[in-house]
Formats: sequence, C-alpha cells, structure tokens
Amino acid sequence: MTKEEARSIIIEKKQELGKRLIILGHHYQSDEVIAYADYVGDSLELARKASQVEEAGHIVFCGVFFMAESAAILAPEKSVYIPDFSAGCPLADMAEPGDVQKAWEIITEEGPGVVPVTYVNSSARIKAFCGRHGGIVCTSGNARRIFEWAFDRADRIFFMPDMNLGRNTARQMGIPGEQIVLWDPEKEHGGLGSDELARARVVLWKGWCPVHWPKFTPEDVRTLKEKQPGLEVIVHPESDPQTVEASGRSGSTARILEVVKATPPGGKLAIGTEANMVKRAARENPSIQIVPLREVYCDDMARITVEKLARVLLHLGDDTFRVTVEPDVARDALSALERMLRV
Ligand code: SF4
Repeated sequence: MTKEEARSIIIEKKQELGKRLIILGHHYQSDEVIAYADYVGDSLELARKASQVEEAGHIVFCGVFFMAESAAILAPEKSVYIPDFSAGCPLADMAEPGDVQKAWEIITEEGPGVVPVTYVNSSARIKAFCGRHGGIVCTSGNARRIFEWAFDRADRIFFMPDMNLGRNTARQMGIPGEQIVLWDPEKEHGGLGSDELARARVVLWKGWCPVHWPKFTPEDVRTLKEKQPGLEVIVHPESDPQTVEASGRSGSTARILEVVKATPPGGKLAIGTEANMVKRAARENPSIQIVPLREVYCDDMARITVEKLARVLLHLGDDTFRVTVEPDVARDALSALERMLRV
C-alpha cells in the first residue's frame, strides 16, 4: 500500500464511520499520524477519553501497547485496536510479573506496611498486581500526590518500573537518599542487604525509559545554557535526578505543554523529551524558540505509520488488531487505575 492509498482509506473510513470511530494519537507520534487523530494527549488522558466518548464503538490507539491495554481496561464495552502489536515499550517490559512477585515476597518479609505503586507505563499484569495488593497506578503528572496517598496508608512504597521517576518523586518529597533503594531483578535478593531493605521507605524497580535515560545528561543542559544565555530548560521526569537538577524544572508531557504556553514571545526553551512532541510544539508556537535538548525518538512509537493505520481501519470489527485483556487481569488492573482516578 502506498502512502497515498493509505491516506485515501483513512479519509474514507473516517467519513463512513463518523462518530462511531475515534483515533487517538499520543504526543510522541509522528506528524503524519497525528494529522488523522481525533484527540492528541498523553497515555492516561487518551485512555480516559476512550471511555468518555459514548458514540464511538471503535477506538484506534496510535501509541504503544500498554496504552491501548489501559484504554481497553477503562472502556471494556468498546473495541480498542492498535495498528501494530509490536509497538511495545522497553520500560514496561522491564518489570516482568514473575520477577515482581518474587521481589514482593522478599520485600514484605522484611516488614509489612508496603504499598505497591506502578507507573502507568507498565503492563496490565503489573497494574493488576498492584490492584490485588491494595496498590495504585500513577502518572508522571500525579506521582507526588500518589506517593502521598500511599504514605498515608503504609510506611513504605514499592515503585515500578521507572527508577528515575520514582527517585525524582521521592527526592521532591524530601526523602533522604539512604532511604531510597534500588531493586535489581537480575541480582540475588535484588542486590540489597536486609538492613538496606529494612530502612528503605522507597524501593525502586531497576527500570528506565531508553528515550529519556541515559540519553539526556546534565552536560547537555549545561552546554545548551552556556551557548544560549536566557534559555530555560524543562525535562521529563523519566530523566535522571542529576539532569532534572541541572535543568531546574521537570514535568509530564502535559506540564511541558503548559510551560510552553506560559513562555512569553521571544522566550527560549529547551525541552528534554521525545523529539516529535518537541518539534510539533516548536512549529505550533513560532513566537518562542523551542529546541530539543537532544533529538531523540522513540522507536516503538515510530512503528505506527499511516499505512498501518489504514490497514487497521480495514480490519475494524474483526479481531486481527483488537487489544483484549484477560477478565481477571482487567478487573484487578481497573481497581488500581480507579484508585488513582479517585485521588
Ligand atoms: S518514550 Fe519511553 S516510556 Fe514512552 S513508549 Fe517509548 S520507551 Fe516506552
């Protein structure tokens, strides 16, 4: 299928189905895909949108697999599709349910009073694990509020799978470094001594987003600031704490876009997140100078193309590209997601 053929199919299908179809596009998608999205946003915003648009029976999620899973969990009465099942997320894949269960048994043996918290960038099985154990989901925008919710209920948090978001949040709350430990699933006992686990208030899973770490560095921030006096920097909190500290500011994709909107004409802003979003923000806000802190793309997001979007639209109504979640997993994951939505 050529790009031109793909574009014609998408336009035809959108006209034919009207409000019965919605196409959701994550901020990190390419412009050519975003051009056909009915809604653009971050993973949770889009999953919520999926559950709110009543007329739409068919939802095509242009993003990565865990996002489509969350939409399927939050909107069980709708059919959710992904244009390419191989669009995964290396960060979500770093927390494997069997490894998490083993870690949980050891961590809770060292003392009760632990709440599991998972970043929304995780598989449905990890969300379900949290749901079953009184835990909760968080996003990069509400992580601090969710940590506070968890500390109201227990002395310790077991946080998965992004170690940088977890450490940035814990540091923001003033938790001392020696009370934040890293569980390495590749090592015996997570690579931690019993004494370290006993004094930990936050146990972080050793996982990271390869787009945000270690690609952005404090050196990138210092070099750009030196070259361009007056330049402001904001990075996504999946970057490491040193880069966040050098930048002086961090925030979720939604927060980054708020900062863009609040920057006065003539302002200069470097953004440390996926380059599709940064370049789009630059084009849409020509009165300010916006540059990527470093031009980094997510290979998994890039698997979604207009050709694959057209192909999925030709298969609506059958199961070829439909995302389903086992009922017991969906039920437990939903309880963790709903706890977050109530906080
Ligand atoms: S940007 Fe990072 S967290 Fe997001 S989908 Fe890509 S690898 Fe996963």
